[in-house]
Amino acid sequence: MSSTCLFCRIVNGEIPAKKLYEDDDVFAFWDITPQAPKHFLVIPKKHLSGPGAVSVEDEALIGKVVRIGAELAKENGVEQCRLVMNNGAEAGQTVFHLHLHVLGGRPMSWPPG
Ligand code: 5GP
Ligand code: ZN
Repeated sequence: MSSTCLFCRIVNGEIPAKKLYEDDDVFAFWDITPQAPKHFLVIPKKHLSGPGAVSVEDEALIGKVVRIGAELAKENGVEQCRLVMNNGAEAGQTVFHLHLHVLGGRPMSWPPG
């Protein structure tokens, strides 16, 4: 899967991205089509197709994705932000490697469209 998955290829450096953060487990980069003044994605390096593929063994990893997302938001001046994970095409997921959207820098409305 990793050879064809867009986000695995970004993690591997095969496709360029504006990197924001990286450690052994997690990678964060600015979204190519930002939907807010600040919009970045936080992903596990491990390929998981989405929230529905998270197993018990991944719980700590996905908790780390959320923690890193919130910390990066604060560091980038958008402590108050929207954190979103789309799960499945009907929910708006287009890239099937789990990712946390972090959006901030403008007022957010609810419910989402
Ligand atoms: P989804 O719709 O799956 O929840 O979100 C996928 C996100 O990935 C979208 O916000 C889209 O703009 C972003 N995206 C898609 N392709 C690329 C890419 O090649 N580079 C970057 N940085 N973001 C991408
Ligand atoms: Zn992947």
